[in-house]
Amino acid sequence: MKFFVINSGSSSIKFQVIEMKTETVLATGLVERIGEDTGRLKNTFLPGSATAREVVIEQPIADHYTGMMLVVNLLTDKEQGIIKDASEIAAIGHRVVHGGEDFRESTRLTPKVIEAIQRNVPLAPLHNPANLDGIKVAMELFPTVFQVAVFDTAFHQTMPEEAYMYALPYELYEQDRVRRYGFHGTSHRFVAGECARLLGKALHETNLITVHLGNGCSVTAIEKGQSIDTSLGMTPLEGLVMGTRCGDLDPAIHLFLKQNKGMDLEAIDTMLNKESGLKGLCGMNDMRDIHQAIEEGDAKAKMALDVATYRNRKYIGSYMAVLGQVDAIVFTAGIGENDDIVRAESLKGLGAFGVRLNLEENGKRSKEPRCISTPDSAIKVFVIPTNEELAIAREVANVLRG
Ligand code: AMP
Repeated sequence: MKFFVINSGSSSIKFQVIEMKTETVLATGLVERIGEDTGRLKNTFLPGSATAREVVIEQPIADHYTGMMLVVNLLTDKEQGIIKDASEIAAIGHRVVHGGEDFRESTRLTPKVIEAIQRNVPLAPLHNPANLDGIKVAMELFPTVFQVAVFDTAFHQTMPEEAYMYALPYELYEQDRVRRYGFHGTSHRFVAGECARLLGKALHETNLITVHLGNGCSVTAIEKGQSIDTSLGMTPLEGLVMGTRCGDLDPAIHLFLKQNKGMDLEAIDTMLNKESGLKGLCGMNDMRDIHQAIEEGDAKAKMALDVATYRNRKYIGSYMAVLGQVDAIVFTAGIGENDDIVRAESLKGLGAFGVRLNLEENGKRSKEPRCISTPDSAIKVFVIPTNEELAIAREVANVLRG
């Protein structure tokens, strides 16, 4: 049974074909620079498929439809493709960034569901329209295939009011749904499930703090398998220090910037999303470059690392208070999976709560899920690689099973 997973951005489409029986990736690829002068499609057929090879096509790709047609033609190529025709795809999963309050779980795509995704465009004006482009094209090309929307926000819809409300005039919530939603939900849910499995516990009996540290970063407090608080808010700007995003901020800084720097709101928004975070603090947004610079004595790079890991620690500590009892802390995503220094710094000071990191295990490099705390640690610490595409595919399988 083959699933097609689609992550459609404003000028790109990321995709995978997964054989669900064995959870093997048969093909993975990226169409990029859609609508620009030079488009590019890179598709890798993996060893799990009969014809392992890499294909790169460079040509203008006018729109998402053209991009997806190129992908489908490659996948169904008579000699070297991996499927005979579209009917071999059992189901399609689409990543959708914002489901607002409409979606608590992954949902089969119907015209009504598409309408609701459209209704939530004001909450994610850059992402939802791009996701909808991918959905519309896939609906056209695969009209009879079962298709599912998997929302970044859905996992966090279990947050209680006290965690999701901003202390703003209540009408803003009533009329415009201004509240905290949270993101990276598919990743937090995926690593939570994997962690419960490693602990040998049922997820609905497990309390976790999941720490997703990639280009975007977020922490989630999970009680009995459900998200009860998370650091990203109404948009993916709140909370931790990220690659280029500032995270938590005194909202009065907006007024200060307007009055003292003559900046308008759009310029401020761009600055907070694209020029802040690690990049704003030290000029670099890739953690590997920051470590290199620290080794060469760059004081700003060290300060950026300290600000980011201090913020991580504050959130992890506050979620310990929120949860009371915690089975494990889980690190995931590019930095969380690879960076032992960030992990150690983010847990500094939590020894008093019984968190004991096994320094040797923490220092090891591996692509496998692993425990990095000592046997006597009261709260276990894990590194669990996230796999967004597989997580989406599993969600689709759940919806398909009903
Ligand atoms: P992601 O968004 O999950 O793909 O994570 C991307 C980020 O992970 C990059 O910007 C890097 O800062 C970070 N990263 C990736 N590999 C490493 C590594 N080996 N050590 C430290 N950071 C890494």
